[in-house]
Amino acid sequence: MDKFHLNKKIEFNRPFFTGKEPEYLQEVIQSGRTSGNGRFTKLCQDFFQEKYGLRKCLMTSSCTDAIEMATLLMDIQPGDEIILPSYTFVSTANPFMLRGARVVFCDSNGSNPNIDAHLIEELITPKTKAIAIVHYAGIACDMDKIVALAKKYRLFLLEDAAQAVDAFYNQRPLGSFGHFSAFSFHETKNISSGEGGMLAVNDEAFHKKAEIVWDKGTNRSAFFRGEVDKYNWVALGSSFLASEITASCLFAQLEYMDAIQSKRKKLWEYYFDLLQPLEKEGKMQRPLLPDYASHNAQIFYLVLNSLEERDGLLRHLKQLNIQASFHYQSLHRSPFYTSLHNETKSLPNADKYSECLLRLPLHYHLDLDDLAFIVESIQRYWH
Ligand SMILES: *Cc1c(COP(=O)(O)O)cnc(C)c1O
Repeated sequence: MDKFHLNKKIEFNRPFFTGKEPEYLQEVIQSGRTSGNGRFTKLCQDFFQEKYGLRKCLMTSSCTDAIEMATLLMDIQPGDEIILPSYTFVSTANPFMLRGARVVFCDSNGSNPNIDAHLIEELITPKTKAIAIVHYAGIACDMDKIVALAKKYRLFLLEDAAQAVDAFYNQRPLGSFGHFSAFSFHETKNISSGEGGMLAVNDEAFHKKAEIVWDKGTNRSAFFRGEVDKYNWVALGSSFLASEITASCLFAQLEYMDAIQSKRKKLWEYYFDLLQPLEKEGKMQRPLLPDYASHNAQIFYLVLNSLEERDGLLRHLKQLNIQASFHYQSLHRSPFYTSLHNETKSLPNADKYSECLLRLPLHYHLDLDDLAFIVESIQRYWH
């Protein structure tokens, strides 16, 4: 172990800036046009529409906001049921519960944390209104099966694509399957504007309504285009827009996306190769990638054999100044939800990932030497 590394703290995440952000921000400030739906917002939306063939994209102040918008567009009502994975961030579930809906938790795959598509159908009832899925670590869910189920039962499909910018299912971009899809540009994501999100509205029937919900329930977007002579309150909505201050920083990142992605993928692959021997020894599992998934190197995770080993390894790495991290605690066991959870059904795989999954540092500022040191440190936990 070299001395340099012994003193150097390896952060779990450090946001990357391209250097263009101040320039674009300055442009916005000088223009005096800082609220939402301006030049940079349009550039960001067009970027997503053109690069991924998404029909209509609206920039929001977070992915959570984008999902809340989707629940208004789906007209989620008290009593509606939504099927979603328990192993996810609160923002997949919370927006539905704000509308009074009931969330029905589904287990994850044994082979990866994504929703187990085989278990969805048995959860569908006459009250089911939507399926919400999460592409964990930017690794695609089993979209053929999920899309077929949504079609068969005429359910809305929402993709929580928060982690899935620039990731694919059989060459098709994630976020292009759902009626609605939500991306995140939170500090922890590959492409970031501090906070920020994007709603993709793939069903054309909702394009007009989406603009209205986005802008406080008014038809101001149509007014700005000269389609109506005054704007009015026409539906329920809220202030979901991101400011041009946010959009200008996001656009700087989007322009740099190829470099960010190729660096992250290189790091991810290096971890994957270096950790193969430990997997062979049965100490843990590396991410298992389905053939249909081309991921985006959002997260590098390991699945340990027990909670004790996972937490032990976290402590070991912390002593060496390496910030690793666990991830979600299953929502069905959360303090907020357990009181509402009247089901006895167990979700063993969600529990397994809550207890045994560990995420390693992965960000643009790391280099291959850092990763070699991290993996060497992991090996020392056992050897
Ligand atoms: C990051 C994340 C969110 C929330 O994104 P925000 O932009 O912070 O609202 C939602 N779902 C998943 C799966 C996430 O990883």
